[in-house]
Amino acid sequence: MNEAEAFAAVRKSLKQRRFEHTERVTEEAERLAEMYGADVGKARLAAILHDYAKYRSPAEMRQTVTKAGLNRNLLYFGDEILHSFVGAYYIMEELGIEDEDILSAVRYHTTGRADMKKLEKIIFLADYIEPGRSFPGIEEVRETAKASLDEACLLSLKNTIGFLVKKKKPVYPDTFEAYNYYTMNK
Ligand code: GDP
Ligand code: FE
Ligand code: FE
Repeated sequence: MNEAEAFAAVRKSLKQRRFEHTERVTEEAERLAEMYGADVGKARLAAILHDYAKYRSPAEMRQTVTKAGLNRNLLYFGDEILHSFVGAYYIMEELGIEDEDILSAVRYHTTGRADMKKLEKIIFLADYIEPGRSFPGIEEVRETAKASLDEACLLSLKNTIGFLVKKKKPVYPDTFEAYNYYTMNK
């Protein structure tokens, strides 16, 4: 699947606002891939596809967790985390993406995980810092991303966990494990 085909597929599945977010994540992922010596083509394709499942219904995504044999824990942490794990499955099944680097970058783009591969970190961060975002503390993450992918991932994980705790929302174990990993391996 080339970029034009991937853009066409997400243009159909996303709302305009989300499509524009995807375009900005793609630019950001390209920038980070160049800066940190990752495969720019893979970074762009993973970014284009990262939110492919964003508008699937929670009911459908929950069924897919079972059907695809994904971790059943995914069902207990709120619907927001489903689109990344299920999205990786859909881009394989529906779009024929077989590259494991791209699949895992999409799979972990919301939660992160311990010891992420370079492309996973790039998509995780690009999604967080793209220019359309305005979370508290985001400028520090943007600045840090110029110096260290690991440090920037740690900051973003810290912010996300703080946000979830404040809202009394459950934190998926991969997110905690990622935070622990990057705070213990500095
Ligand atoms: P988006 O798809 O571009 O909007 O960005 P993300 O894929 O990062 O999804 C963001 C949403 O997932 C936010 O609402 C976060 O609060 C939520 N989220 C991120 N990590 C976790 C987690 O560990 N647990 C839960 N319950 N939600 C999370
Ligand atoms: Fe997402
Ligand atoms: Fe996104």
